[in-house]
Amino acid sequence: MLLLIPGPVTTDARVKAAMAQDYAPWDNDFRQTYRQVCDGVLRVAQASPDEHAALALPGCGHFAVEAAIRTFVPQGGRLLAPSTGAYAARLQKLAGDAGRIAVPLAVGPAERVNPLAVAAALEQDPTLTHLALVYSETGSGICHDVPELARIAHALGRRVIVDAVSAFGALPLDLRGLPAVDAVVLTANKCLEGLPGAAFVVARRDSLEAARGNAGSWSLDLADIYQHTLQPNAGPRFTPPAPTLAALAVALDLYHEEGREARLARYTANMRALYDGIGALGLTPYLPPALQGPIVVNVLAPDAPTWNLQLFVDALKRRGYVLSNFYNTEQPTFRVGCIGAFGPDRMRLAVDAMGAALGDIGISRESAASGGFFPLPLTA
Ligand SMILES: *Cc1c(COP(=O)(O)O)cnc(C)c1O
Repeated sequence: MLLLIPGPVTTDARVKAAMAQDYAPWDNDFRQTYRQVCDGVLRVAQASPDEHAALALPGCGHFAVEAAIRTFVPQGGRLLAPSTGAYAARLQKLAGDAGRIAVPLAVGPAERVNPLAVAAALEQDPTLTHLALVYSETGSGICHDVPELARIAHALGRRVIVDAVSAFGALPLDLRGLPAVDAVVLTANKCLEGLPGAAFVVARRDSLEAARGNAGSWSLDLADIYQHTLQPNAGPRFTPPAPTLAALAVALDLYHEEGREARLARYTANMRALYDGIGALGLTPYLPPALQGPIVVNVLAPDAPTWNLQLFVDALKRRGYVLSNFYNTEQPTFRVGCIGAFGPDRMRLAVDAMGAALGDIGISRESAASGGFFPLPLTA
């Protein structure tokens, strides 16, 4: 079964094999694995070990997004949060529920975050101390220029929090050159091609020192986790998802063997094979080519009476491929992840299977279109 979802992703057999044993989390061997994984994550972020720390948090990505916001934005503090799509909306919601004020900045469905609009919003409102960005907006499939936006925030004396969960390890990130970035959030199970259960925040050491007492939650306090890491021979603070971390150690070895640029090129080739392939099936992509990122492709639902997302997902699963049975766009779509341990040859086979699965539910090439035009401007 190939997972074609934007995380958790299909993993290499060697990564899965690392989970086939029991681990004692505070055993010295595991402590070493734990530190090796944190060091590996720092290296992927091109962070400097003197200036940054990689902190592991058990759980899913949203837990770590909340931890970063709670730790770095004080209670009642205000952050500018461009409304790029479903994942930015989640960030805004969890910030609000944590008593932080997320001020939205409108972004059109066919737009990247406009650096001039961000600069204007920050200049107009000096109470906005932070900028919170989603690097690859998994809702739409658009990637935003986080390095450029972080440089603007830096020039205006603001701090930056990045939800890089679906971008980390594929899109460029060089933290040494981005001093305004307090925190980058990631998980093991997306472009690092590990298993679910472990989230991380790569954060600045000086900001972590300054953030003590902010979080209002011991569980989600990155400043406390950081203090714990400073102890001699430090291991995890509480019980970690040890098998997932052991698997991530293997996944990081494979990652460093492949290299970030090669991994991004592979995902981009997957995306192109899919994007071109669905066009040949008569389907319409949600985004024009110029905006389509390499992580996830949304496809407009066919405008056919027999279209039913769950029936399509079931038919495709019988052929060996798993898609999400929900979508995050305003228009009905289905979404296909381009990330994981596979290449464009398998994606082409998946596209063939999609054509057959459409046939199974009574949709032909002629009836697969959603009107036959891009719903969004081609020139965006
Ligand atoms: C996957 C993802 C998350 C985290 O999702 P969880 O289900 O909480 O792990 C957060 N942000 C983005 C952009 C994502 O793609």
